[in-house]
Parts: sequence; structure tokens; C-alpha cells
Amino acid sequence: MSTLLTIDNVHSFYGKIAALKGISLEVRQGEIVALLGSNGAGKSTTLKTISGLVRPGKGNILLNGKSIVGMPPHQIVEEGIIHVPEGRRIFAGLTVRENLELGGFTQKKKKNVIAAGIEQAFSFFPRLKERSTQLGGTLSGGEQQMLAICRGLMARPKLLMLDEPSMGLAPIIVQEIMHIIREINKQGTTILLIEQNAKAALRLAHRGYVLETGRIVMGNTAEVLRGDESIVKAYLGA
Ligand code: ATP
Repeated sequence: MSTLLTIDNVHSFYGKIAALKGISLEVRQGEIVALLGSNGAGKSTTLKTISGLVRPGKGNILLNGKSIVGMPPHQIVEEGIIHVPEGRRIFAGLTVRENLELGGFTQKKKKNVIAAGIEQAFSFFPRLKERSTQLGGTLSGGEQQMLAICRGLMARPKLLMLDEPSMGLAPIIVQEIMHIIREINKQGTTILLIEQNAKAALRLAHRGYVLETGRIVMGNTAEVLRGDESIVKAYLGA
């Protein structure tokens, strides 16, 4: 499997405070990689640094071997990295369909590509199709998350980064969303996933990394992590 994303010794700061203290990881083409760690470990900062919202003070980030450090966020989107942030942030005053169209329009996708993207979104989440004319702000939390993921997919990303897609959702909806994330991956999209629900994340992911106070303390296949005593104790609720 070829490497899609490489993070090499990245340090990120908020003012003088170091949130990432030299992290290195890689995401290979076709994988689902999970980022685990407790609150404040630096998971969201890692995604923000990749998507250009936070500029690393040191280190390099490569997409298909090309450095993306220093590029503005919109250019990183054009390079093929889409970040679905925590808390969904869909357009509340636009309909489901309009939200999806925007995901494609901002990427300058052609009309037929946008139409195909919307069809794909509706096939993943038929519930969105039933609600295509409903305003985003009136959707349930789970439906908003579905819409946020699908809006991200409209750009046909090389790498889809999801920040806590299960946050605040009922277990049955979490299951549905996890199932679709696997489906999206099977259809060819590489995924970097932050998940508080480590059990669910390690069931889904091929590999995972564990962050602690800005450092990666473990990186391995999901199978090995699932069997690791310290992970089980810290994150899997044993
Ligand atoms: P959570 O699961 O709670 O979101 P996280 O692992 O995603 O945690 P980050 O949000 O990346 O952690 O935060 C890493 C560290 O950086 C924390 O100590 C946090 O307080 C700090 N931090 C995050 N955002 C900012 C900011 N905008 N300004 C200052 N410090 C910040």
C-alpha cells in the first residue's frame, strides 16, 4: 500500500503552548486510521494542522510526497484533503441538497459530478434523500452528522478527516454512521478518524495511533491495539 499522508516530526503551538510535540505518523492509500487519546491530547490539533488551520512551528506534512505545509486551507482542500470538524457545522439556513451542492461547488466540480455526488450521498444515507428539501438546521444531530460527512465527500477527497463523528449521538445512530464510514472507505476513500469511542474506532480502523499530551505513544494495527492491555485499560473500559 502506498503512503498517502506523512506527518514528520510536527510541532504545533497555540501562542507559546505546544499542543503537538513532534508527532510522526502515516496514512496509507485505502486505509482507515484512528487517532485515539484522552481530552486535550492533541487529536483535533493534528487534524487542524493537516488542514492548514494551524500552521506547524516545525516539521513537515506530505501528501503523496508533496509538502503541504504553509499552504492556505483552501489550497489544501484543492490538494484533496477534506476536514469534517467536530460539531458538524453544516449551513443551517440551507436545505440538505443545497448543503451538498455547496460541498461540490466550492471544489469547482462540474454539474454532472455534483449530481453523481448527491446520488452517492443519498445512497449512503437514504434518510438525507427523504429530507433533501428540509433546512439543515432542522435536522437531528445524527442527520446533521450524515450531511456533514456527505458534504465533505462531495469534493471527492483523497483523504477524508472526521473529527468525532459519533459525538453526542445515540448508540444506534453511531452504529449507522460507523457502518457508512466503512462503506465509504470500501468505495475507495482513505479516512483519518478521531473517535472518543475507542472501541468503535478500533473495530472500524485498520491501524491506530494513541496520542498523549501532544506525543504519539503508540501506533499499531487495530488488532494489536485492541489486544493491548494498557489500551484496554485506558480507552476500552475494561
Ligand atoms: P478533545 O478530545 O478534548 O477535543 P483533543 O485531543 O482533540 O481533545 P486538542 O483540541 O487538539 O485536543 O487540544 C490539545 C491542547 O491544545 C489542549 O491542551 C488544548 O487546551 C489546547 N488548545 C486547543 N485549541 C486551542 C486554542 N485555540 N488556543 C489555545 N489552546 C488550545
